[in-house]
Amino acid sequence: MIYVILAPHPDDEIIGCFELIKENPKDVVVVHFKKYAGNTEEMRRFRINEAVKVADKYGFNHTVRDSVITLIVDDMFWKIVENEAGGKENVAILVPDLRDNHEHHRLVNSAGYIIAKRYGFRFGEYTTRMNTEYVRECKYPDEKLEAIKMYKSQSWLWEIGDAKWWIFEGRRYYE
Ligand SMILES: [Zn+2]
Repeated sequence: MIYVILAPHPDDEIIGCFELIKENPKDVVVVHFKKYAGNTEEMRRFRINEAVKVADKYGFNHTVRDSVITLIVDDMFWKIVENEAGGKENVAILVPDLRDNHEHHRLVNSAGYIIAKRYGFRFGEYTTRMNTEYVRECKYPDEKLEAIKMYKSQSWLWEIGDAKWWIFEGRRYYE
């Protein structure tokens, strides 16, 4: 199975799918979006650069698109079907939780759903919130924290507060 993780922001893939990435790095393709990576060109470049370093360290495939606008007709999906997956039934697409109310997450969810329907992929969601009913304890909390710390621009995620969200993780698929 090839897992295509649509991550609106650099770090969403670690927050929502760290176990998947750690266990199947070669079968994971993470898609980030430059438009949602920051409010200035400098910040966008900085965060995408952080994402590249995380992908290199954990050995998963990583690609960047400008926004979701052209994603639905992106050649990338046919290439994954033909070259890596050997059939559309071997591809799963994962998006942030469908009830997420962050604008960028909603854009990516919608695009992901349309892509799954168009190509006939398995469709799943991952949560970036710890109060979702399908979260459970993450198998690798220490390593997950180590991974998120590579996103230095997002240090508020792990320095402030006592939510300890890296202890948890949740994904589910729709049939
Ligand atoms: Zn996000």
